[in-house]
Amino acid sequence: MQGTSKWVYAFSEGDGKNKLLLGGKGANLCEMTRIGLPVPPGFTVTTEACLAYLRENRLPDGLMDEVRAHLKAVEQATGKGFGAARNPLLVSVRSGSAMSMPGMMDTILNLGLNASSLAGLIEATHNPRFGWDAYRRFIQLFGKVALGVPDEPFDRAMGELKRSAGVTHDVELTAAQLQQLAARFLDIVREHTGQPFPEDPYQQLETAIAAVFRSWNGKRAIDYRRQFKITPEMANGTAANVCTMVFGNMGNDSGTGVGFTRNPGTGERQVYGEYLTNAQGEDVVAGIRTPKPIAAMAQEMPALHAQLMDLAARLESHYREVQDFEFTIERGTLWALQTRNGKMNAAALVRTSVEMEREGLIDRRQALLRVPPAMLEQLLVPRLDPGFKGQPLATGLPASPGAASGMIVFDADTAELRGRAGEKIILVREETKPEDIHGFFAAQGVLTSRGGKTSHAAVVARGMGKPCVSGAESIVVDVHNKVATVGPATLKEGQVITIDGSTGAVYFGEVPTVEVEFSQDMATLLGWTDEAARLKVRANADTPRDAQRAREFGAQGIGLCRTERMFNQIDRLPIMQQMILADTREARVAALDELRPMQREDFKGIFKAMNGLPVTIRLLDPPMHEFLPTVAQLELEIAHLHHFREAVEVLQEIPETLRILSPRLHHQYEGGLAKLLAGLTEFKDSHLEDQLVARKTEVLKKVKALSEVNPMLGHRGVRLGITYPEIYEMQIHAIFEAAAECWREGLDVQPEIMVPQLATVEELKRIHAYVTRIHAEVERVTGVNVPYKFGSMIEVVRACVRAARLAETAEFFSFGTNDLTQATFSFSREDAENKFLPAYYEAGILKDNPFEVLDEKGVGELMKLAINAGRAQRPELKVGICGEHGGDPTSIRFCHGAGLDYVSCSGPRVPIARLAAAHAKLTEPEVRQA
Ligand code: ADP
Ligand code: MG
Ligand code: MG
Repeated sequence: MQGTSKWVYAFSEGDGKNKLLLGGKGANLCEMTRIGLPVPPGFTVTTEACLAYLRENRLPDGLMDEVRAHLKAVEQATGKGFGAARNPLLVSVRSGSAMSMPGMMDTILNLGLNASSLAGLIEATHNPRFGWDAYRRFIQLFGKVALGVPDEPFDRAMGELKRSAGVTHDVELTAAQLQQLAARFLDIVREHTGQPFPEDPYQQLETAIAAVFRSWNGKRAIDYRRQFKITPEMANGTAANVCTMVFGNMGNDSGTGVGFTRNPGTGERQVYGEYLTNAQGEDVVAGIRTPKPIAAMAQEMPALHAQLMDLAARLESHYREVQDFEFTIERGTLWALQTRNGKMNAAALVRTSVEMEREGLIDRRQALLRVPPAMLEQLLVPRLDPGFKGQPLATGLPASPGAASGMIVFDADTAELRGRAGEKIILVREETKPEDIHGFFAAQGVLTSRGGKTSHAAVVARGMGKPCVSGAESIVVDVHNKVATVGPATLKEGQVITIDGSTGAVYFGEVPTVEVEFSQDMATLLGWTDEAARLKVRANADTPRDAQRAREFGAQGIGLCRTERMFNQIDRLPIMQQMILADTREARVAALDELRPMQREDFKGIFKAMNGLPVTIRLLDPPMHEFLPTVAQLELEIAHLHHFREAVEVLQEIPETLRILSPRLHHQYEGGLAKLLAGLTEFKDSHLEDQLVARKTEVLKKVKALSEVNPMLGHRGVRLGITYPEIYEMQIHAIFEAAAECWREGLDVQPEIMVPQLATVEELKRIHAYVTRIHAEVERVTGVNVPYKFGSMIEVVRACVRAARLAETAEFFSFGTNDLTQATFSFSREDAENKFLPAYYEAGILKDNPFEVLDEKGVGELMKLAINAGRAQRPELKVGICGEHGGDPTSIRFCHGAGLDYVSCSGPRVPIARLAAAHAKLTEPEVRQA
């Protein structure tokens, strides 16, 4: 590199695309200069010079020679002289790396001032106050940034001066007072550095460039890069931009401001921003005076306003992107000082994408690619009012996005009661269980003190699109006494709280929220995704209502309908329990016969909602004990009943005891006591509580019998289907009957029956035998030959390995990547997330949570193995994914590459997945090369 290196590029020669070399600010100053926008002359010292400086601890040889040569050119272009006593040239030295890091590095303004150039500046501007003010600012800023003098002595000197002058604001100080202050500032620098303030402007410049370079390794900058994961590949070192100073503080025909070419909050096509007359650069941001909206400029300086509109229009038509720019007006002349792509919220991004496409500024591909899929989440769930600034009372994990307020309720039954009465509820639990499901339906949101982002509460809430904060461990929940405590504070049932499932924060009281905005523009953009994407997007939905909503979000089918969710509803759970508790096949079948019409109705509802689209129904999956109370709960209830019996016996002794203790009282209450006694005796003889105890003991026995050491690897999924064929048979019946009825009504039903937890082809063949037999039966009874598909979930490692054989029977595979991830890592999800995964990220062993972002190297390889083997056996094999990963943009990109046909995710994530699927297709390697 030595010898041939070029360290400096004039704004008029630099390559506007080379941000790694010139930094974003520098590259754009070059670009703007190249297309003829009014940029004050200057040059960029490269990031490579910065790296060389940081390596060698000195500026590279030859650099200052190049700087001098470029400065000569600037002097020529401006007609000014650097450090000259007449018409002096002042410059700014500005940091800027390839990635925008606002405020993280340093910039020095007004460089080149010394005793003689200051006199020249005052003479040229006829404004001594302006000159002295610029000088004292320069001494402090240079002192601080380049020489390491702290602010404190400068600020103290300023305070003393104001006190002795009897003024409160800097602007009230006179030229003479500022002159006095500048002298004091020069002394401060000398006291702190042991050297006089550098008078030689070239020495100032050299010191300033080195200081800007050093600011790359300042603590602020390093922290920022770590926080936003900016790697050296993205930005390595900062450039130093040397730019002719222009002055917005030269009177009322001068000013400075910042603008967006479109409104970054709404996307509206109107230049948006603020300006200040008679002010310099940073005054707008610093809030010295209240700036005016740019629209006001149309009245105040109509000619300049027109110039500014023209500048904005030229920026946009060149960059084909919304620009965020800085400008300064010096005595009626407009200068552009910076531009970069504007950061916008999701609503503005979507609107500008659609509008810029219509305006012909960008094409559809660009319109889609400029919206990051994950950002759509902002628009799909209610958010806290952005103006709200309260302190959370506790913080847990952001488990399901969105914000909700409501009254605290500690159990699902109460939640259902109060929810039905129209009240807004937040269900607060230590953790949730499948039997709490009705509480979820009734609640606005869910808060748990335990459990990770894939805990039951989190998964169910996400599926329903309800906000959830999980694992807020500082909250101690006492469900029994219906209170929770957070430090010294107590939360009672009925108190209002607000949870923000996007951040994990929990607040006291009701915080205002902003509702979902599913705009026409969003619909348009999402419409384009379906043209662009190859992957289809389906939804996980368990009820007709969820299915309807998923369809509104643009789901192209249901990828996972979990039938067990239906059994947890209040009217079905008792029948389900009867079925589980049944001792004989007959008793079990009787209970199942009761459930069958209910399932049929559920399926009909879902088929209707999804008319014309495929619906994948998973046969019963969870272990049976999930539908029963826990051992602890039953033992507690039985103990209660025994106590009750003892209490009755004690009560029966009251009349006799009272007679001995106080015959008077006994006489007085004799009648009432006799009645009570009769009642108690009758109750006792009825043996009601005995019956209940007997029933509960029976259930307890069953629960104990069903208990497994490791239920998630136990008697569940297809294993249930094999050992209790009547359960799966009932479900298959219900599916075909519902389909036949819908078919008769003229609907286009496309059921896909899916078997969970499959490990061997023999299991699949058994279930397939039920399916073909029942299909024929239903056809015989209804006369309808229902079209359907039969397939397997792939969530067991063995199933991946045996995929070729499975595909002989299965017409589709659906990867259940939650279980498959558990099985591949041999991590139990809940334990992993709560116990050791955080330590794994910290230690750098894992980069992402494999339960959130698909583990491509492990789980992904297994998937590819299964897909290839399956398709070799059955080329038309349909392949999808229905784990949580189906809604994660990174995982969706992998699924696209691996050749899946569809991804399936929770309803509210469908738009995100559609956009991610389009991105995956639009950025696949072949397209990029073309
Ligand atoms: P940042 O990256 O923190 O915005 P800048 O380098 O853009 O830092 O500069 C800080 C402020 O000084 C901005 O308001 C900018 O417009 C202003 N500024 C920078 N250079 C000049 C200049 N040559 N003339 C006038 N104002 C300038
Ligand atoms: Mg700036
Ligand atoms: Mg599973």
